[in-house]
Amino acid sequence: MNAPITVKRLGEDASKFVAKEKKLFIDGQWVPSANGRTIDVIDPATGMIFDRVPDGASEDIDKAVAAARKAFDDGPWATMTPADRGKLVWRLGDLVEKHADELAQLEALDNGKPVTDARMGDVTFSYELLRYMAGWSTKITGQTIPLSSGAPFHAYTLREPVGVCGQIVPWNFSFMMAVWKVAPALAAGCTIVLKPAEQTPLTALRLAELVEEAGFPAGVFNVVTGLGETAGAALAAHPDVDKVAFTGSTEVGKKILDAAKGNLKKVSLELGGKSPMIVFADADPSVAIPAIGYGIFYNMGQTCTAGTRLYVHKDIAPTILAGLKDFAAKMTIGVGLDPATQIGPLVSQEQFDRVRGYIQAGLDDGATLLCGGGRFGAEGYFLEPTILTETEPHMSVVREEIFGPVLVVATFDDDGFEEIVREANNSIYGLAASVFTRDVSRAHKVAKKLKAGTIGVNTHHVIDPALPFGGFNQSGWGREQGYEAILLYTEVKSVGVAL
Ligand code: ADP
Repeated sequence: MNAPITVKRLGEDASKFVAKEKKLFIDGQWVPSANGRTIDVIDPATGMIFDRVPDGASEDIDKAVAAARKAFDDGPWATMTPADRGKLVWRLGDLVEKHADELAQLEALDNGKPVTDARMGDVTFSYELLRYMAGWSTKITGQTIPLSSGAPFHAYTLREPVGVCGQIVPWNFSFMMAVWKVAPALAAGCTIVLKPAEQTPLTALRLAELVEEAGFPAGVFNVVTGLGETAGAALAAHPDVDKVAFTGSTEVGKKILDAAKGNLKKVSLELGGKSPMIVFADADPSVAIPAIGYGIFYNMGQTCTAGTRLYVHKDIAPTILAGLKDFAAKMTIGVGLDPATQIGPLVSQEQFDRVRGYIQAGLDDGATLLCGGGRFGAEGYFLEPTILTETEPHMSVVREEIFGPVLVVATFDDDGFEEIVREANNSIYGLAASVFTRDVSRAHKVAKKLKAGTIGVNTHHVIDPALPFGGFNQSGWGREQGYEAILLYTEVKSVGVAL
């Protein structure tokens, strides 16, 4: 296979990793897939194949689940003290930090995203989260419960790990999404079978090497690369998996639910979004413009919380739109591995076609193109940052998740907030939302009324290892990050001792 030119930009460690033959990580061993088949890994900046990973399927999932089951029920993991478990998770965080540049480069090559964002965002967040969750290992407790009936029992609860977890993650933040799931599950004492997205499997395999290096017992963490409909579906349906955690589209989230019902495994879902950003007439443009710009264009809009719908008061709209057009024009478009890049390619040809299809549908429906809309460069899946104005609530670009660098804009002239908040809430999703105003009272009132899991005031993307993250409506079930994530990976048991 001829390596694309981008591979030459990798540092030495990332190059060595790409050059290795990729295998599945099951029960502490590196093994080929049972069917011997592979999946091509494509560089989105050039469209060229630069690596291959095993095309794992149900037989491999069976083996991985059996290893995770054994490690959960009988292995040293089952009897390890919370302090030792916490130390391992912390050590994994240290290893991720030690190899942060390499991981960021792998992610930038595999996904196309800007390497600077991958390093400062995805990878930094991941090691900080591992350390944050390591701290919870020793702080997971039950309660002593005074019985309301006055029954002569000493009653208390135990909070125990839920068991074997199937974790299925998407391609947009492949490494960080994996760590979002792996960190709390390990801290809680669960065992894991991770299935990365077929478009971006590399960093999950590198994570497995770091898990091995950290010294986790065999079987605690397993990785099966493969397709969603085969490996993913087998994992979601597996009768010996106790919980499935999924991040991806709402459409596939519903399939996960269906698959999970056979053994009624626990399910947590982090799904799509169509997040609104509301700009009132008193907003500070110097704050709102960059926040909205990054709110939509960060990670090329391939972000579940992307601020995709902009509602701007008509009095401030000319200033905000002129500022956003200028912001978009100044973004540096280029290959992800260039540290100066702010906009890389979309992840795949499929995604590129899908996003362009939405832009065309918006124009056909009568929206106006303020900027962008076109392909950038001659190869790869680069798309200009795009802004569509004069959109109407019924248009598909306003209703559906585009998952690309496309902002849709509508103006409003109401000086209250009830009506515009109703419009912002008029969505099947509810992942994030933001409000821009200098009126503190209005900011709090609007934050309370918006139906979304995370609200930004004078900012858009709000994430932190300690802050619960998840969706209202069809944006999902459950909350990741913070102690809420520990709750997702534990079960409560009540014990009554007759006195
Ligand atoms: P996107 O639309 O962002 O590509 P998907 O929701 O299709 O995201 O995929 C997210 C993850 O779900 C990927 O790891 C993918 O392989 C997996 N997946 C896709 N289809 C299924 C399925 N039917 N069952 C289980 N996992 C699936």
